[in-house]
Amino acid sequence: DVIFPGDIEKLEVLGHGNGGTVYKVRDKRTSSIYALKVVQSSSDATTRRRIKTETEIHSRAADSPYVVRYHGSFESPLSGDVAILMEYMDSGTLETLLKTKGTFDEASLAKVARDVLNGLNYLHARNIVHRDIKPANLLVNSKNEVKIGDFGVSKLMCRTLDPCKSYVGTCAYMSPERFDPDAYGGNYNGYAADIWSLGLTLLELYMGHFPLLQEGQRPDWATLMWAICFGERPSLPGGVSAEFRDFVECCLKKESSERWTAPQLLTHPFLCKNDPET
Ligand code: ATP
Ligand code: MG
Repeated sequence: DVIFPGDIEKLEVLGHGNGGTVYKVRDKRTSSIYALKVVQSSSDATTRRRIKTETEIHSRAADSPYVVRYHGSFESPLSGDVAILMEYMDSGTLETLLKTKGTFDEASLAKVARDVLNGLNYLHARNIVHRDIKPANLLVNSKNEVKIGDFGVSKLMCRTLDPCKSYVGTCAYMSPERFDPDAYGGNYNGYAADIWSLGLTLLELYMGHFPLLQEGQRPDWATLMWAICFGERPSLPGGVSAEFRDFVECCLKKESSERWTAPQLLTHPFLCKNDPET
């Protein structure tokens, strides 16, 4: 169903991001409600580059119930503004829900984890690394569905998970970075970075503050880098189930090759135990 920019009517501002504004809009012909992210042509070069990447990647990830639906993008021939039309998520983000409703219990976190992992599974299978999984980029609707949004810094990987299997021909002719990307400047296992971010997100929703810092501690770059690379895994309060504790540990393994993948985590006991279908 084609939606024309001329039929879109702005209703209200939903949020401001790093260079764009997101509006709640209505298609005058059908009365359907959408969200529209607009980046003005007067924005800086980085922001404009970001919206192009975002459009390209989001359009390749348009048909999963676990990713905010992409309905098209427009570029105004007059002003040069770029806009992305997407599904409206009427309960906002997990960041705002944490602020308004308070911390999440384990059953709600299992539901969040399952939806996000299904989304990551879908993206990773299409060679897309999201790279910005955090409460502010996970959207919720009144059906209590959680969906991944904001593809502003996502990346399309040109390698699949197993370079040997995806290579047609023999491995002998592969370039060095396909064997050892860390040593040769590639970013081979970016997928595991999304799992790390999911682990931190779940902890934050459980604890009520960013888990790698003490409450009130300043999140400057050096402190964060130290905490991420050398810090102990954040300790969970007593009363946490063994399954949740283990799930978070599987997400937060420092060595990226040991971290569980989305399909593996979808079979973890924490999700099975909290599965309403069983
Ligand atoms: P940042 O870089 O700061 O995360 P951004 O420019 O990338 O921001 P988004 O994260 O895409 O922008 O959106 C900004 C805000 O707009 C969100 O935090 C959310 O409050 C709101 N928003 C975005 N998309 C939707 C949507 N589909 N439905 C409802 N609200 C949305
Ligand atoms: Mg965002």
